[in-house]
Amino acid sequence: MATCAQCKSFFPVPENADDFAPGKGDCVREVKDEKGKYWLSKPVVSDMDTSKCPFFSEKV
Ligand code: SF4
Repeated sequence: MATCAQCKSFFPVPENADDFAPGKGDCVREVKDEKGKYWLSKPVVSDMDTSKCPFFSEKV
């Protein structure tokens, strides 16, 4: 099973951040529409199952 930690959109919360917790991170994705590009961000945890996520893309 792949997890969010293996996804190129996963960014762990840095240890020195106020909201740090082990495994906590943000899913940050670039999105394009007719108006241009923007970023979507949402909180995730590193061991989340990605099988239901259509945006999973493995880190290289
Ligand atoms: S929610 Fe989907 S796109 Fe976001 S980090 Fe997890 S697998 Fe990647």
